[in-house]
Amino acid sequence: MSDSGIRVGLGHDRHRLVPGRPLILGGVTIEFELGLDGHSDADVLLHAVTDAILGAVGLGDIGEWFPNTDPQWSNANSAHFLLTAIDEVRKRGWEISNLDCTIHAERPKLSPYKHSIAARIAELLRIDVSQVNVKAKTGEKVGPIGRQEAIDADAVVLLVRSTPTS
Ligand code: MG
Repeated sequence: MSDSGIRVGLGHDRHRLVPGRPLILGGVTIEFELGLDGHSDADVLLHAVTDAILGAVGLGDIGEWFPNTDPQWSNANSAHFLLTAIDEVRKRGWEISNLDCTIHAERPKLSPYKHSIAARIAELLRIDVSQVNVKAKTGEKVGPIGRQEAIDADAVVLLVRSTPTS
C-alpha cells in the first residue's frame, strides 16, 4: 500500500449546557452563567480535536481510550486526553501540519476568546499558533445550539510524516 505521507482526521462533539458547571473551551475557562455537562470537564472542543487526531492515525475514538463509565476520568482535565492522543501520534512518526476548528454556540460571544483558545491548543500540542485556527458560529436561534441547549465543536487535522518510512 502506498503511503502518501499525509493523513486527515475529523472530530465532532456535543455537550449539554447546564447551570452549575464551568464552561471550558479549548482549555480556556470562559465566564458564562451556564457550563457544559459531562463525565470529564466536558471540554467539547478538546474532545473534537482529540478525536480528529486519533482518527487521522486510525486509533479509533476518545470513548475507546477514555470511557465515560470509568471513574478515573470523572471531572478529568481534557488536556490529558489531548496530550495522550498527540503522544500516540508522534510515537507513530506523524506531526501536525495544521488544525482547523469550529465551535457552535449561541452564547456567549466567543470572538474575544478565539485567539486565546487557539494559543492554548497550540501550547498543549507544542505547535505554533499559526498552525491552529478557531472559528465560532451561532445556531441562528434555532435547533439545540440556537436554543442554548448545547455547544458543538468540529475539528479537522492534517498530519504529515515526521520520520521517513522504511
Ligand atoms: Mg465529549
